[in-house]
Amino acid sequence: MSERQKPSKPHLNLVVVGHVDHGKSTLTGHLLYRLGKVDQRTIEEYAKMSEKLGVGDTFKFAWVLDRLKEERERGITIDLAFQDFETKRYYWTLIDAPGHRDFVKNMITGASQADGAILVISARSGETESALSDEGQAREHAFLLKTLGVNQLVVAINKMDATTPPYDQKRYEEVKNEVSKLLKLVGYKVEKINFVPVSGWKGDNLVEPSPNMPWYKGKTLVEALDEFEEPPKPTDKPLRIPVQDVYSITGVGTVPVGRVETGTLKVGDTIVVMPSGAVGEVKSIETHHTPIQEALPGDNIGFNIRGVSKEDVKRGYVIGHLDNPPTVVKEFLARVIVVFHPTAMAAGYTPVLHAHTAQIPAQVVELVQKLDPRTGQVTEENPKSLKTGDAAVIKVRPLKPLSIEEYKSIPQLGRFALRDSGRTIAAGVVEKITEVQEVKI
Ligand code: GDP
Repeated sequence: MSERQKPSKPHLNLVVVGHVDHGKSTLTGHLLYRLGKVDQRTIEEYAKMSEKLGVGDTFKFAWVLDRLKEERERGITIDLAFQDFETKRYYWTLIDAPGHRDFVKNMITGASQADGAILVISARSGETESALSDEGQAREHAFLLKTLGVNQLVVAINKMDATTPPYDQKRYEEVKNEVSKLLKLVGYKVEKINFVPVSGWKGDNLVEPSPNMPWYKGKTLVEALDEFEEPPKPTDKPLRIPVQDVYSITGVGTVPVGRVETGTLKVGDTIVVMPSGAVGEVKSIETHHTPIQEALPGDNIGFNIRGVSKEDVKRGYVIGHLDNPPTVVKEFLARVIVVFHPTAMAAGYTPVLHAHTAQIPAQVVELVQKLDPRTGQVTEENPKSLKTGDAAVIKVRPLKPLSIEEYKSIPQLGRFALRDSGRTIAAGVVEKITEVQEVKI
């Protein structure tokens, strides 16, 4: 939890997705500006810079995100790019700046899971069609969101100022229809989704109802976000804390740092670290330099454990309680979507597996089934290869012990991505653990 965060409001994580150039950065930047997160002077500066480039002031809002990214890069290194903002009902963390090339990976393996998403789709003639085409990113992102269990969605039908004629209701209805078809295919309950006609550039319907679209009687973007439901805190699940970092502090001892994903950690608890199997006792817990007695899901904490040396706790390890220790796997079946592969992925492929805070080389040992990405039905047994856009069940062997869980029992620890040469190749969830690694505790 960041220091600025007000615990009085429930906290939700948000991702902004959609096809490149459909205005994700502009819309997000403008939203942050309207919500008072960016001052007028900064925007004016960006407008001037943008004018100098000969592109009018079109990039003044998009650059807000670039600046955030830059500041983050200069500051403390956190894997996730984020920015916080507040609406009437919620406190939001924008996980990952749109346009970030690692956003797919971050969405899956980031310290926080997205509770909801804004799908941005341009209503400008031609742009809608390419985003929704077979190769379109709007399509890809919609499938990914569904696979990753992001069930709450707002569709921002963007660039309404650039339809012909401007702010055209007919065009809005057309785009809404097309996007609805896609979302239905993917498996979303379209009746529950708000479609908001906006201009991220001009600001229509972001925070206040737009006078340019009197025909629209629905919610503004911010009101639509406030309709999301609060995710339940998984306190009833076994404790899982993926280790982000470990400090060794003189006079204090070993201090792992991480975010509680599930369960509850209390001072005095006996914990076990996996896959090392080291056991220790929790002496103290801190969040943002404040000592606490108990940490809940969502809390970012540092905690001092007695009896565990620094060698036994590493980034990528997972901490749990002795009565239900984190599972360590040798092999598992996974349901994946091939996000991108330059040619075709075959059995024997050895990418890097990213799951929670862990990064481990792994081998795809078997392509078990090819699935219809829309329905999940099996279309082929033991396919020879998989290409971009394919959905499949595959068998994966991490080449080192890895703590991971089945998605159905602990979803927070059941997602992963396969990466190669800096690109996300596939994303998915652990369907079934087929071989566990025994660890002596
Ligand atoms: P991203 O790649 O999805 O983050 O898209 P950007 O925010 O970088 O915007 C891509 C292009 O579309 C830029 O030239 C923007 O100025 C333009 N754009 C973004 N939003 C709007 C909008 O609401 N109306 C119009 N007319 N142009 C927009």
